[in-house]
Parts: sequence; C-alpha cells; structure tokens
Amino acid sequence: MDLRSIYTELLMEHSRNSANKKELPGATDSKPGSNPSCGDEITLYIKRNGDVIEDASFTGAGCAISQASTSMMIDLMKGKTVQEAKDLIHSFLRMIQREDLTEEEIDALGDAYALENISNMPQRVKCAVLAWRTLDDLLKE
Ligand code: ZN
Repeated sequence: MDLRSIYTELLMEHSRNSANKKELPGATDSKPGSNPSCGDEITLYIKRNGDVIEDASFTGAGCAISQASTSMMIDLMKGKTVQEAKDLIHSFLRMIQREDLTEEEIDALGDAYALENISNMPQRVKCAVLAWRTLDDLLKE
C-alpha cells in the first residue's frame, strides 16, 4: 500500500465511523470551533481529572478532512496530560507548516502523521488544523 492510499484509507475510516463522535457524559470542558471558509463546525468535549485528559469526544459536521483530523486528534489525546496534549498540538501544527519533525514527534503523532500531505493543499489546511487549534484554545482557558 502506498502512502497515498494509506492516507485515503485512514481519512475514510475516521470520517465515516468515528466512535469519538458523540457528546461526552461528565465532560468538564467543551469548546466550539468553526472554519467558515469550508463550512466545518465542531464542538470538542474533554473530561479532565486534574492534569490528565481522561476522555474526549466531538460532535459536528464538515468535510472529510476536518472530521477525520478531529477524530484522530481525539484518539491521540485520551489519557494524555495537558502538557503532553499541548506538545502534540505544537508538533501537528509544525508538521502542517512543513517544518521538520523529530522521529519522536512523528511517532507521537501516530495516525495523525498521515495528514502530513495536507500541507500541499493550502485550501485544506484550515480544515485539518481546526480541531487542533480549538483544543489549544480550550486548554489555555
Ligand atoms: Zn473542510
């Protein structure tokens, strides 16, 4: 399987099924985010226990990239500390800006690294970063 089909596969899988797409009972924080240029709208939910993101989910609608990127991010954030989450957001945004990542950063991003090629599609970048920027704002509050 070449990189392009792995990317397509992951995108389809996450945008279609997403067990992460639901409201979160017992959520401690939530935050809406939107990307008017494409019409993507999401709301993120997280359940924090002290410094740890115990659980997370999202609701919303939009293009496949926005929905898949959100789902991948939610998968990644479960069980992470707030600082780890912020580091991952930083890595992802740097990846989308075509900066070189370390091996460790690439490993840490997991499935989300498949979105690397979005950096070649400037009009879709906002779709891909929507969830990550929204979570970044939420964690600053
Ligand atoms: Zn979009």
